[in-house]
Amino acid sequence: MEEYRKNLRDKKRIVVKIGSSSLVHEETGKLNLTKVEKLVRVLSDLHNSGKDVVLVSSGAIAVGANSLGIHGKPESIPKKQACASIGQAKLMMTYQKLFSEYNQITSQVLITKMTILNDLSRTNAYNTFTELFTYGAIPVVNENDTVSTYEIEFGDNDRLSAIVAAVIKADLLILLSDIDGLYTDDPNNNKDAKFIEFVPKITDELLSMGKSSSKSSVGTGGMSSKIAAAGIATDAGADMVIANGADVSIINDIVEGKDVGTLFIAHKNEKFNLIDMIS
Ligand code: GLU
Repeated sequence: MEEYRKNLRDKKRIVVKIGSSSLVHEETGKLNLTKVEKLVRVLSDLHNSGKDVVLVSSGAIAVGANSLGIHGKPESIPKKQACASIGQAKLMMTYQKLFSEYNQITSQVLITKMTILNDLSRTNAYNTFTELFTYGAIPVVNENDTVSTYEIEFGDNDRLSAIVAAVIKADLLILLSDIDGLYTDDPNNNKDAKFIEFVPKITDELLSMGKSSSKSSVGTGGMSSKIAAAGIATDAGADMVIANGADVSIINDIVEGKDVGTLFIAHKNEKFNLIDMIS
C-alpha cells in the first residue's frame, strides 16, 4: 500500500476534477474566489514541477444561474443550457485571469459525448491535448453543456474526467469531492460506516456500495458516479484518488504520496474499450 502511495510521486500527466459544490459558497451560490485562487496556485505549481496538468471544472450552470439570480439548479433543459452558456464564459474568464497571474497559459476544451464516440473527433481531441501540453498549457475542460442536452440529463464530470484521463493517457486522476473518500456506507447516515483507504480492484460489491445521491444543491455526481469513473480510469491505466477538496492543497499531499483520500489502483485492461464504457 505504501509502495502504491509512493508511486504517485512519479506521475507525469495528472487530471484534477473539481465539482460545482466545491467551487461556490453554499450560502450564496457565488464563486468562492479564495478557493478558486488557491486551486489555480496549486495547479500552477504542479505544472511548474514538470507535470502535464488538466483541470476538469464544473460550475458553468451554477455560476450562470447565480448571475441570473436563479437559486439552486435551473429546472428546464433550455434554462440549464442558457445558464451554462453564461456561466462557462464567466468561469473561464476567472481561470484565465488567475492562471495568467501565475504565468501559466490556459485553454478551454469543451467536450460532448459525440467527441468521444466519433473516432476522428476523439483522435483530434487527443492530438489537440498533446499539442497543448507541448506548448505548456493547462487545459480547462468541461462538458459542452450548452449544446449537449443528453449530457446535461445524464452526464456528470466525474465520468467526464475519467474519459478525459483515458483519452489523453493520463497516469493519475484526482477527484476532489465534499467527502474524504469512499466509505462502506454513507457516513452522514451511518456512524458505523468505515473509511476505505485503498481499492486494489473494483468489485461488484463495491459498485453496489456507491449511492447515486448527491446532497449538494448544485453538484451532480454522487459516489456511484465516482466509482464508475474509477472503473474507466483504472481500466485505462490511471490510478485514481478521491479526496476531500475542502482544502485544495490536498492535491500536493496526494502527489507527495501521503496517505489521504481513497486510492484506486490502475490495472490496465488490454481489452479496454472506451466506447463500450460510455455508449
Ligand atoms: N457540466 C456541469 C457544469 O459545468 C456540471 C456537471 C457536474 O456537476 O458533474 O455546470
